[in-house]
Formats: sequence, C-alpha cells, structure tokens
Amino acid sequence: MIPSMLTRLDPLARTVSAALGELVFPTDCPCGRPDRTLCADCRRALCGSGFRCDTQATRLRRLDPCLPTFAGLRYEGAVRRCLLDFKDAGRLHLAPYLAPALGAALDCLAAWLPGVLAEVDGGPVYLVPVPASAAARARRGEDHVALLLRVWRRRERRRRDGVADFRAWAGPVPRERDALRVTRAAGRQKGMSLAERGEASTGKYSIRRLEGVRGRLPGAAPLAGSSCIIIDDVVTSGATLEAASVALRMAGVRVLGAACVAATPRS
Ligand SMILES: [Zn+2]
Repeated sequence: MIPSMLTRLDPLARTVSAALGELVFPTDCPCGRPDRTLCADCRRALCGSGFRCDTQATRLRRLDPCLPTFAGLRYEGAVRRCLLDFKDAGRLHLAPYLAPALGAALDCLAAWLPGVLAEVDGGPVYLVPVPASAAARARRGEDHVALLLRVWRRRERRRRDGVADFRAWAGPVPRERDALRVTRAAGRQKGMSLAERGEASTGKYSIRRLEGVRGRLPGAAPLAGSSCIIIDDVVTSGATLEAASVALRMAGVRVLGAACVAATPRS
C-alpha cells in the first residue's frame, strides 16, 4: 500500500515520504544492505544506456518482419535482484529507479527508427504494455509493467514541461494504451526451459475489443492501422513479445518495435 502510494507522489514528496517511511518501516536494499531502499551501488547498476536485444533472443531473431527490441539494462546481478524484488516481493517503490531504464530503451528504439517515425507522420504511436495475468496482478497488487510505464511517462512529461530536452522523441510523448488482454494463462515462466516458455506463450494474448463497442468508448480510436511499441519488463527468449506482436499484427496494428527494462545477456 505504502509503496504504491509513493510512486504517485512528486520526487521531493516521494523522497521525504520514503525517508519517513524507512524510519517507521526500515527496508533493506535488494542486495541485502540494511536500512536503505536502494544502496549507491545498486543505484549505479540501474543506470543503463540501452542496447538492442532481439538479435540474441531465440524467439525474436528469426521473426519476419523483425521486431527491433531494445533493453535498458542487462538482466544480471543487481539489476536482476531489483527487478525480482519489484515484481515478486512487493517492492513497488523501486519503480522510479527502474523506469529510467525503460526510457533508455525507448530512446534507443526511437533513435533507431527515425525513418519509420517520419512515415508515421505525426500519427499516434501507442505504447502497449504487456499485461499481467489476473493471477499475477492479484498476487502483486499491481500490473507492474503498466506501473513502470506510468512512472516513465510522468517523468517524461515533467522533463518536457521544464527545460526542453529534444532527444529522440521529437513528437508528443506517446500515449499508453491497454490494447492487449491475456487470453490464456501461461502460468509462471520462472524456471521453464526456453522451449516451454515458447509453448506457454503461444496464443496468450488477444486484442481488447475497444473499437467493437457500440458508440465507441471515449477516446478509443480504432487500433487497426495505428502504430505501436510494445513495452515489457524482461526479455529472455522473447516468447512473450513474439506472442504480443503476433496478436497486434493480426489486428492490423503496425508494431514498430519493443522496449524493455532489461534483457538477459544471451538466451
Ligand atoms: Zn544494494
């Protein structure tokens, strides 16, 4: 409860609240250092510059058309510990520390796609988070990928409201859109082999039928013909991103690529 409230606050308020919270409810860093939400070493480990990772993910490297995928961090050591604590140990207050890696991945993707973004020609580019299953959301109390995306968007909007920082995204900050829904629970993938992950993810997602609603939901433009970037937390084999991209492409969505917080160095 307290961690999820903290992610909704401004940075200063969040820092003060976190400091007060730690006085009352001391927390340890995911690496085990006591009395610190995140130690200096782990903070440093979460600073990434982004790299392309679909070329090393078994399920993505042969996709046609390809799915250019970038990650902010390598999924190992402190990064892995922080992400696991964020996802599975209820440490949602780590979201502001992890969101910049998602931003780094998005910046890399945007820098890699300038021709494609020009072709989109000012049309909306939706950021589509990979949804958690109902069971995972209930267990974690939050859809953690959607949370990371919300935190990144807030930071990005604030940055643009202040001193303009003309980085790779020249247009408006892309809007997120919950376009995917989980069709079939794939179960927990932790501990599965690559082949098992691929099998478990096939047909896992379908498109939310927003545009099929009579009178159309407010603000819900048709998805078909629009462009999107898929957002996820960790790329291992790429099976989840493959399943999400197949569902979106079958619905007529142009999938420009994917951005993730971290990727396994090699899978
Ligand atoms: Zn630490």
